[in-house]
Amino acid sequence: MIVGNSLDELKKREAAYEIIKDSIESGTGSQLYDLTGLSGGFIAEEEELDLLQTYIGPAIFEDKLQDLGIKHMGGEKIFALNRTSSGILASILALVSEGDSVVHFLKAHPAHPSIIRACNLVGAEYKEYIDLDKFNIENNTALVIITGSTMDHQVLDEESFKKVIEMAHNKNIPVFVDDASGARLRTAIFNQKPACDLGADLSVTSTDKLMKGPRGGLMAGKENYINMVKAKSNEFGLEAQAPVILAMINALKEYNPQNLRDSISKKDKLFSFLAKSFNMFDETPTGVMVSKESLKKEVNSKVDICNLSDTDLCFLWSMILLKFQNIITIPAVSMPGASTTIRVDLSSNDSNKLEIEDIYEKIFKSFNQLLEVCVDENLSRKIIYNL
Ligand SMILES: *Cc1c(COP(=O)(O)O)cnc(C)c1O
Repeated sequence: MIVGNSLDELKKREAAYEIIKDSIESGTGSQLYDLTGLSGGFIAEEEELDLLQTYIGPAIFEDKLQDLGIKHMGGEKIFALNRTSSGILASILALVSEGDSVVHFLKAHPAHPSIIRACNLVGAEYKEYIDLDKFNIENNTALVIITGSTMDHQVLDEESFKKVIEMAHNKNIPVFVDDASGARLRTAIFNQKPACDLGADLSVTSTDKLMKGPRGGLMAGKENYINMVKAKSNEFGLEAQAPVILAMINALKEYNPQNLRDSISKKDKLFSFLAKSFNMFDETPTGVMVSKESLKKEVNSKVDICNLSDTDLCFLWSMILLKFQNIITIPAVSMPGASTTIRVDLSSNDSNKLEIEDIYEKIFKSFNQLLEVCVDENLSRKIIYNL
């Protein structure tokens, strides 16, 4: 394995940041295209920046955060966190004890790694289901988790969503929803309701995903549960700070679901081009993707011997896309343990700067380069770590 653990992933991400920095500083930075669908936006007015003091900012921003957050997410009370992962950790720390069970229902594996890591941390038993007929809530369950849309944008249907909530509530067990991208994908594209309107007790979304906000976690829910999670977050420093809260508010104001719907026709066009050249692509609601399994299969059908693992192939392709085609996809820059699926999101701001034909061309060229490089493990390592 070239990238085999969290430390390797850190090295890989630092290498990607080096390439991004060099590209920006060489003056060709405007030609970097971020097609991840994570924008890290920071919309703010000059005079708002003067409010960014530790105790003044959050006090001034609180009412707006509540109004706009509840409009976006439903629920009774809103709380802002540093990341979605922070919201997941804080909720599990607050609601789950050693020896309890946590059961998780989602459309498809994998689940976000922070859920499993947080369960391990408190010493809880963790069970994961993707089949409603097999879904089972044991009696010692302290928390039921639903993922609205997975890291690979696999979206749960509303009927299953409601059924899982009903089963949990019949046993008086609270339901937490990881709606990182789902809070927008489910509602804007699939006409579903916000998780709290479907009965969830807590729901968290990433203000970085499919909207123009900063990386941060926006949590909504029933007031008593929010208060428990908020207190726990403050104990461990997981809450969002004033600058992030300000940028969240402005991104929520700016959010327009029509932008997401507009990306569907572009997605259809790109997918039809790609399907003529490759077997490995699948559609997502607002883009296209290649899973690690599909990538490995496609590569194996085209080269004699490639000894790289499926995840290493994803990291390598993502680094080639970045270094040689100026396209940012998630595996190059991702956090340890995140999905290695290569995804191109046509709702990203930067996708408007490229014609669909150009995106196709860049994918095509980079894949051919991947085929040349992947047979040489040493060269692959050099590209992944930018050595
Ligand atoms: C992105 C994502 C997360 C984590 O978001 P961070 O901002 O990296 O903490 C959690 N769950 C799902 C389903 C995600 O897609």
